[in-house]
Formats: sequence, C-alpha cells, structure tokens
Amino acid sequence: MSAMPESLPPPPYAVSDLVTTAIPDDERLWVPQAPNIWFRPLFFNTVQGEWVNLLRVRRSGVLSRHRHPAPVHGYVIKGTWRYLEHNWIAKAGDYVFEPPGEVHTLTVDSDDEMITLFHVCGALIYFDDQHKACGYDDVHTKIEMCRRHFESVGLGADYVRQFVR
Ligand code: FE
Repeated sequence: MSAMPESLPPPPYAVSDLVTTAIPDDERLWVPQAPNIWFRPLFFNTVQGEWVNLLRVRRSGVLSRHRHPAPVHGYVIKGTWRYLEHNWIAKAGDYVFEPPGEVHTLTVDSDDEMITLFHVCGALIYFDDQHKACGYDDVHTKIEMCRRHFESVGLGADYVRQFVR
C-alpha cells in the first residue's frame, strides 16, 4: 500500500514547489549585504516582483532608511529590532506588517544576533539623511547579489536558480 494519496498530475504550466532548510548549516548560503548584515534567500518571485528572505544582523546600529511601495510581512525568529519612527520593538515571535508608503529606519540596539524572516513585495527604496531617494533593492538586485556571492564562494552563480520562480 502506498503512503501517498492518489492525486492528479500538476497542471502543465505550474511552477515547482520549494522546500529548504531555512537556517542552513552551510554558512555560504548567507549573502553579505553590509558589514555584519546578511540575508539568506528563500524565494524569489520574478513574476510578482517579491521575495522572501531571512535577514541576519550581528551588530547594533542603524541599518537603513527605506520606503516601501508595496507591503512587507515580517516574522522575528531571534533577537530584537525597531524602527526609529515607531515606539514598538519587534522581538522573537512577533509578526510585523509594514504598509505601502511607510518610510522607516531599521535599527538594532544589541550586538546579539537578530534573525527575521521578511516577505518583501515590490522594493526597498533607500533614503538618505535628507530624505531623498538614493537607491533601491528589488527581486532582481537581490538575485544579482546572490549570483555574485554564490560564484565567489564556489557554489556557482546558478546556485540561486533553485530559489527563483
Ligand atoms: Fe521596512
């Protein structure tokens, strides 16, 4: 007797599913974003323009000021962080929704490790101290960062392909 229930074959143009160890043993899967800041790619959606990743921070300080044109969902796995513009602190176990239009400044107050899963739709538009846009990240810049990093650590640029749909 099969352990699998009977099922229909997938529709012809359905994309494949994706299961991966979110917090990997292999340190090479953490892509450096800035000193003591890394992201671990989990899912890149090139059709909807969104991505899912873990953000890991191991230093205190201001990380970035950015605006979201589309929603972000976060789930804090470890540590704490906050936005200078808000009076709440996101801590392990918390869910955070960041609405479109928000400009905020991500800050970590402790050198203890922080890990948060973010589902980012659209982009992060970076702002400088004068509140002027000075750069962005979207699903394609994140993929490109992964390609460069995975190539440099010997996994090959196409290692990122498994996370792309
Ligand atoms: Fe944000």
